[in-house]
Amino acid sequence: MSTSISIIGCGIIGATIAYELSRSTNECTIDVYDTHQPAQAATGAALGVMMGIISQKVKGRAWNFRKESIRRYQTLIPELEAATGEKIPHNSQGIIKLLSPEEDLSKWQQLIATRTEQEWQLELWNARKITTQLPQINHQFRGTAVYSPQDIQVDPVALTKALVAAAQLNGVKFHFDRSIDSIKADNPQSCELLTADSQTITTDRVIIAAGLGSTSLLAPHAPIDIQPVLGQALQIRLPQPLGNPAFQPVIVSEDVNIVSCGGTDYWVGATVEFPLDGVVTAQAADLEKVKQIAIEICPDLAQGEIIRTWQGLRPRPQHRPAPVIDRVGANQRVLVATGHYRNGILLAPATARIIGDMLSAG
Ligand SMILES: Cc1cc2nc3c(=O)[nH]c(=O)nc-3n(C[C@H](O)[C@H](O)[C@H](O)COP(=O)(O)OP(=O)(O)OC[C@H]3O[C@@H](n4cnc5c(N)ncnc54)[C@H](O)[C@@H]3O)c2cc1C
Repeated sequence: MSTSISIIGCGIIGATIAYELSRSTNECTIDVYDTHQPAQAATGAALGVMMGIISQKVKGRAWNFRKESIRRYQTLIPELEAATGEKIPHNSQGIIKLLSPEEDLSKWQQLIATRTEQEWQLELWNARKITTQLPQINHQFRGTAVYSPQDIQVDPVALTKALVAAAQLNGVKFHFDRSIDSIKADNPQSCELLTADSQTITTDRVIIAAGLGSTSLLAPHAPIDIQPVLGQALQIRLPQPLGNPAFQPVIVSEDVNIVSCGGTDYWVGATVEFPLDGVVTAQAADLEKVKQIAIEICPDLAQGEIIRTWQGLRPRPQHRPAPVIDRVGANQRVLVATGHYRNGILLAPATARIIGDMLSAG
């Protein structure tokens, strides 16, 4: 008899797990449940910037997850486009991180040397090269930059929808607008999901990929606390593209990303706002600060019209490193993949592979 797997949550993490499992096995039935439609929560707010090779992580789990995910994205995006016949907007022109003149360059030189040994590319650009290649950068800029040509950015909503469509083609069943209230895991042979409309679903294995919703589902099984960190972003429409239309890498400075959406639109963000006394409230001043930093980097952004602002809550684990990928529940049949905080889009493929391995291990 085939094993039944239930995934709770259809953000980038649940959708990637569903798709990757559907590719690797036909001995399972896979069902995905989400309170809403796919990619509505943190995933719907994300900018999709993958700070992989350019991150300061060089060893251990943090680097291995990044490396594995970057490699998988090289095949995953074309694979999904071929399966669904839909384009997934993404930017393969790299990420350029601007460094102030005061920045200690030695750590970046060390990182470049390490990445070269690891057979990845990273370049240090001087101010002259920056303004030649990227004329949109403020001509007063006197610092340097690190350019990472192999890091990418992807539209997270389009990616999640493509994962869902491709997983459906492989037989995965999605149940949207269906909330799971709790999980019973005391029977050694199976688990029970209790739905918000009082149904009971019996399943062999459960994967909790519910982002901020994971804490309450996990409460009877493991005290894993996932807290929200708010992010706000905005979309600016310009009369013409910034700089050279043929070279539009993601520009990062002081943690602010300027992301070309193709054409003359740019995403700018995001704020990082921690709860105050347990309450998360978007601060208009924080979004304004992000906008001002972006205009300081690329003064032509000031000519644009803000056509959209949005916000989302990043799922951040308390008192343990992100992400949380673990086995929980009295019968050990419940797995959790959550708390990806600021890097859920980047780390989704490695997360799915680890969950696959944990399921295979029994
Ligand atoms: C403004 C902003 C910018 C970001 N930028 C980036 C970036 O550039 N790069 C990057 O890698 N990451 C970025 N992130 C982080 C990224 O968005 C998250 O790490 C990632 O989306 C988490 O994915 P997830 O699937 O775990 O959670 P979510 O996307 O939050 O999905 C969880 C899903 O579970 C469902 N759910 C919850 N409880 C239940 C329940 N009881 N029953 C059924 N369904 C349930 C929810 O409806 C939701 O759809 C950003 C986040 C924000 C807010």
